[in-house]
Amino acid sequence: MVISVASGKGGTGKTLVATSLALALSDRYEVQLLDCDVEEPNAHIFLHLAVNQSQQVSIPVPKVDETKCTYCGRCAEVCAYNAIAVLKEKVLVFPELCHGCGACSYLCPESAISEEGREIGVVETGSLGNMDFIQGRLAVGEPMAPPVIREVKKYIDRIKEVIIDISPGTSCPVVEAVKDSDFCLLVTEPTPFGLNDLSLAVELVRKLQIPCGVVVNRVGVGDEKVEQYCHEQRVPILLKIPLDRNIATLYSKGVSLMEGMPEWHSAFLKLFQDIKQIVTASQVVK
Ligand code: SF4
Ligand code: SF4
Repeated sequence: MVISVASGKGGTGKTLVATSLALALSDRYEVQLLDCDVEEPNAHIFLHLAVNQSQQVSIPVPKVDETKCTYCGRCAEVCAYNAIAVLKEKVLVFPELCHGCGACSYLCPESAISEEGREIGVVETGSLGNMDFIQGRLAVGEPMAPPVIREVKKYIDRIKEVIIDISPGTSCPVVEAVKDSDFCLLVTEPTPFGLNDLSLAVELVRKLQIPCGVVVNRVGVGDEKVEQYCHEQRVPILLKIPLDRNIATLYSKGVSLMEGMPEWHSAFLKLFQDIKQIVTASQVVK
């Protein structure tokens, strides 16, 4: 089963939940933890794990042979990202805008465009007991996270229990990382910002037709509106984590709940069982 752990808003404790769930499961199951928060992967900090293998991720960008080019402008016309411009006697390529779709080289009437790889990040792997760990890391200044996320997700082994740590927000990298999950766990906090971003995230996963549930973190910090919203929208609240100084201290030190407060172990196993039931029920309905 593939469970993605997302949050509409940053700083809700999403990585704490993802790592704690993966560690709790790894006592009993074969687990994979994928860190798809590729702009700022930090799950490894909670696992105290060093990656031992690294593989480059690159995308194909066009290289123009101007001895063949007639400056017809077709490549610039077909590029949806304005990554290529044709002047009177010069073709300019802007590699950082290029999405590597290949349309320009495919449609060039003179076969003047070849492709060369441009490195945009790495995929790093390691392991901890029964857990495989895979993380993507986008190169500094690179805007395009989805190709790195796709490379990380190629490691998914659906025989295992797969937990994916997703970047905060509801933008393209989130869609890329969440899609094809069996379930999406949304981590939020009971504040107006938490509620606003949770509602956007719920809308997104519903569009993707992925069943979801909520973890409310820092219960006690705000009001009841997140709970009211979940009730109205029939989104189950599967776990509540109180506002607790000890948890905040663990979080700030990069210590998972499993390591710092093992009494949470059974709560995370129950969370997993509840998710399994919801997924099974949603498959029956389909
Ligand atoms: S489509 Fe080919 S021939 Fe036309 S401007 Fe672009 S590179 Fe040159
Ligand atoms: S590969 Fe695609 S995105 Fe890149 S320059 Fe060509 S058409 Fe544009």
